[in-house]
Amino acid sequence: MHHFNERDGVLYAEDVPLSAIAEAVGTPCYVYSAATFARHVRVFTEALESAGVPHLVCYAMKANSNQAVLSLVGALGAGVDVVSGGELKRALAAGIPANRVVFSGVGKTDRELADALDAGIYCFNVESESELAALSAIAAEKGLTAPVSLRVNPDVTPNTHAKISTGQKETKFGIPVSRAREIYAQAAALPGIMVSGVDMHIGSQITSLSPFDHAFTVMGDLLDALRADGHAITHVDLGGGLGVPYEDARADPPRPEDYAALVARHSNRFGCTVVVEPGRVIAANAGVLLTRVVHRKEAEEKTFIVVDAAMNDLIRPTLYDAHHEIRAVVPRGGTELVDVVGPVCETGDYLAQGRTMPRTERGDLLAIMSAGAYGAVQSSTYNTRTLAAEVMVSGDRFDVVRRPMPPEDQIALDHVPDWIGEAARR
Ligand SMILES: *Cc1c(COP(=O)(O)O)cnc(C)c1O
Repeated sequence: MHHFNERDGVLYAEDVPLSAIAEAVGTPCYVYSAATFARHVRVFTEALESAGVPHLVCYAMKANSNQAVLSLVGALGAGVDVVSGGELKRALAAGIPANRVVFSGVGKTDRELADALDAGIYCFNVESESELAALSAIAAEKGLTAPVSLRVNPDVTPNTHAKISTGQKETKFGIPVSRAREIYAQAAALPGIMVSGVDMHIGSQITSLSPFDHAFTVMGDLLDALRADGHAITHVDLGGGLGVPYEDARADPPRPEDYAALVARHSNRFGCTVVVEPGRVIAANAGVLLTRVVHRKEAEEKTFIVVDAAMNDLIRPTLYDAHHEIRAVVPRGGTELVDVVGPVCETGDYLAQGRTMPRTERGDLLAIMSAGAYGAVQSSTYNTRTLAAEVMVSGDRFDVVRRPMPPEDQIALDHVPDWIGEAARR
């Protein structure tokens, strides 16, 4: 479900024609629909509410951490899952209360742990014994108590792309479920640590409920065992990972309502607050990457549509073999078989390969759909390209929510030491 629809032969974001945004802001740029973001957050909160499950929806902000997005999500009552000190700063700056923040990730530094302790976050999702020891030392020194969940690895196969699969024992994430009781006992004995929950996250773009069902059962079993061991567990964090339909016809992931119903079913047994960390399912279909056709290039075997967006703007096609539907902003009628590529000097710089899509000419606008998650956040300035602007639409209004970063700004970040001429002569 999203708010990018065609009206009178033009693709709109809510009530704004994408062509008007391209005109005002330039291309490439990301365009987000506030109504779509809001709807997705509400689907989760309302489904858990109506199922009577005490819950905290912590939007996994690594999917899209723009301050306008965070402010919107926060205003809807959601919290966030952060994976770095930088994300924590963004969340707090957007007005998200610290007691709605969970902190995940395998490599939290002492500085990041200390800052999160000072902020007073809801829970640390601890991923190793080493992190546990460091957190204990820092908390004890500060005279503070760190609420802790251990991220357990339930060892289930999520049937998704290898680069976004995190819940198997071969990955770097979490502690093996077989060692959980032992490490929980250690945690409970450490100064500055308060065991408060259990945590899991098995991967991303998961398109069936069965891996979740399996993992939630493992968590339920663990919860029983931990309670029998005397731990007061007050919440269970089920992570994120629900997939979205990138290809209209093909992949058909479960609806958030169905996911919530599954959570509700397990929650009777959990008997505590349920935290969920949806990222992609909140953000993906709430954004498009708007780009213009720079050239058509008829090669011997193929037709290439060269656009002004590239892998530095959206790396998902080349990093994850991801499929993004591509629509013409003002369709001319007819289709053709093409590769859509950017100007970056890499063979991996493509947005679609062997795609049958609307026929386009030089100067036409295209919308790369479902680019709201893991799009702008993974963008770079490779090839000294301007970091793309981000725009948010609400009804008939739109605003630039991240200004572009042109080469001048990038050059200004560099520093040339005054000995560089000498270095050339050595
Ligand atoms: C990335 C991540 C999420 C969100 O995953 P989605 O697939 O975007 O829902 C949730 N929790 C953790 C710990 C993550 O690393």
